[in-house]
Amino acid sequence: MPDHGVDNISPLTFSFEGKESYSLGERVKLRYRVTNHSNSQYFVLKWFTPLEGILGDILKITYKRRRIPYDGILIKRGQPSIDDYVLLKAGEVREGSIDVSASYSLSKAGVYHVTFAGVIWDLTKDLPDQVGKRSPEEFTRFQTPKSKIVLTVKGRGKSVDTEGQVQRKKEKRDPRNLRSGHANEPQIKGGSEGDKAATKAAHNDAYHYADQGRINVQQEGGKNPQTITWFGAYQSKRHKRLHGVYNDVAETLKNEKITYDFNGSSCQASWYAYTYKDTRTIYLCNMYIAAPFCGIDSKTGILIHELTHAVSGTSDHAYGLSGAKQLAINGPDKAVENADNYEYYIENLPIWLETVLFVMQKTT
Ligand SMILES: [Zn+2]
Repeated sequence: MPDHGVDNISPLTFSFEGKESYSLGERVKLRYRVTNHSNSQYFVLKWFTPLEGILGDILKITYKRRRIPYDGILIKRGQPSIDDYVLLKAGEVREGSIDVSASYSLSKAGVYHVTFAGVIWDLTKDLPDQVGKRSPEEFTRFQTPKSKIVLTVKGRGKSVDTEGQVQRKKEKRDPRNLRSGHANEPQIKGGSEGDKAATKAAHNDAYHYADQGRINVQQEGGKNPQTITWFGAYQSKRHKRLHGVYNDVAETLKNEKITYDFNGSSCQASWYAYTYKDTRTIYLCNMYIAAPFCGIDSKTGILIHELTHAVSGTSDHAYGLSGAKQLAINGPDKAVENADNYEYYIENLPIWLETVLFVMQKTT
């Protein structure tokens, strides 16, 4: 859950309400209410709040004391647009509904405890045209009081499929054990000829990035400065995870068929791309198309970000360079589960700089 480095107490609160009980197979929908308790208006960033639905792991749901894993959409977001903010006037109350069963599998009858951790990523009194220019580095986070409810699911039968399950059922998997030193040919749906060519090149580079990632995290026994910058102080369990993610992404790129789809119907203006856990399809949105080929937030880096979600089940605890770096310092256990950290680590490896210089020397 996105809850690091939050110490401001929010003037907004969120509360939830559900039915007394739900039957298995029925969608579990909750009503939410957000209230501005202050005397001034606020623009609230919808990200990771119920105001945008459930577009991230925003709920902690437990069943018999075990956490139900999040199985909904996983997004790489860029700078928020004005549309990503909601204006709440002084004293205003907003209500809506969220479909919990689309993102969490409530597949057994019994009692579920649902908690909204209540992190607001950005809250500001500014005018919307200024808000539209805010980058994740400028966000002011707020913590609202945690909001908990208990719900009961009854009966027998089949529960509603989560979005992740729906996606996995659509895919055919045929892993090989290819010994090549390069990425397997991807499938690309939609996009212009230029988008397709750029994505094929980014896909091929993503293999080399992930391969270099798994090599680099082993250097100096996992204690080299880049690894510490992006993933925190060395610790064997974290190091194992870190190496495992790059390794699994590299092996998947080599041995499996990845599909890139430019026709994803969920894309929003401020998104680069999205995917689902344990799938092999990456949906590419407008900000990906506009992204540069190398450097920070590059096409290849975006694919790496998404592949760590799809292949290794990473999350989005923080976005952006400074957010990712802060996470390595304040929450290294989360840094090794955060997709942007994997992306920025390899986008910042000095080896690419050497490659660029080498190419420059060759061409001049
Ligand atoms: Zn992401």
